[in-house]
Amino acid sequence: MDLHFSQPPSGIEWSDWHWQLAHAARDFSTVARYLGVPEDMFSADASTAERYPLLVTPYYLSLAHSPEASDPILRQCLPTQAETNQQKQLGGHPDALAEEANSPVPRLFHRYPDRVVFNTGNLCAVHCRHCLRKRDWEKCLPPPTDADMDAICKYLSAHSEIREVLISGGDPLMLPEECLQNIVERLSAVPSIEMLRFGSRVPCVLPQRVTPRLAAILASGKSAWLATHFNHPWELTKETAQATQILHRAGLSLVNQSVLLKGVNDDADTLAKLFTGLLKIHIKPYYLFHGDPIQGTMHFRTGLQKGLDIMNRLRGRISGMALPAFAFDLPGGAGKIRLQPEQLAEYDANGNPVFTSWDGKRVPYPD
Ligand code: SF4
Repeated sequence: MDLHFSQPPSGIEWSDWHWQLAHAARDFSTVARYLGVPEDMFSADASTAERYPLLVTPYYLSLAHSPEASDPILRQCLPTQAETNQQKQLGGHPDALAEEANSPVPRLFHRYPDRVVFNTGNLCAVHCRHCLRKRDWEKCLPPPTDADMDAICKYLSAHSEIREVLISGGDPLMLPEECLQNIVERLSAVPSIEMLRFGSRVPCVLPQRVTPRLAAILASGKSAWLATHFNHPWELTKETAQATQILHRAGLSLVNQSVLLKGVNDDADTLAKLFTGLLKIHIKPYYLFHGDPIQGTMHFRTGLQKGLDIMNRLRGRISGMALPAFAFDLPGGAGKIRLQPEQLAEYDANGNPVFTSWDGKRVPYPD
């Protein structure tokens, strides 16, 4: 939808990521002005924004089709009282995947033998309401220092079984370029590291940031993959197509990780459009995640059966290449489970499904 500005941006300004960030909305009064609606429309949600701050680029806001709270774009970026109100009823944990408990050195999460997650900080272009690391939003988590990199590289060198680093955050593509270059160089200098996988929402929420220079930095070290995070077909625009083209030209391979979100994409038609649209711009749909039980995001969870039903409907309806794996993470850092519609779980005495983790543990899952 068209946004309202006191001084409308020129085309050049709109396409400049600096302009987008300088004009990002950080409060409801700016959102109301941009959307052309009264500010009191959001009064019930104001206290939630104090607990979980609002941040959204004008570009991402403009992808909404209406100013209604049910709009799938606004639902992903505007705080609602459900984030705080329902915590007592629905529970959730700030760190349901026990990342911090599996952190051998600061910023590194080591849960699988051959790969680690590297948390580069909490810089993002948009605060996605369903964020897995919402717990970090209010922390002081600046970009990694040389001392952080020394400790991380020392750990990686001492564990030659680790071959892949998932560079996450926050959003690593929001780091200053010299910092990102340093990260790529330092990690690539560890002989046993074979692959760097960047996880980023930038191609979706701030595609203007993807410049040839940024892409060249990402591709300048060990074999580089980028996992994008598109959740809805309205997020696929000519700007995102341009950004992915730049990334491909630099030599990156692209996959997408979506999250199944109630009221955003929890129907087969929406996901069929998203997955086939991603393939058209050469991004392979890799995962469709069931929402983790993260505090402040519980209202987005659909229940596993809903995801299985959707996957069942998609099977055969769209190209097998467009079908991601439907997956979720077991609590306590026990690892991922890929779920097929025909794979029924057993249930424990409390009615919770019980799954077998990658290393043979029997783990109940709070559905
Ligand atoms: S960009 Fe990623 S880390 Fe940042 S708020 Fe969104 S999901 Fe969370």
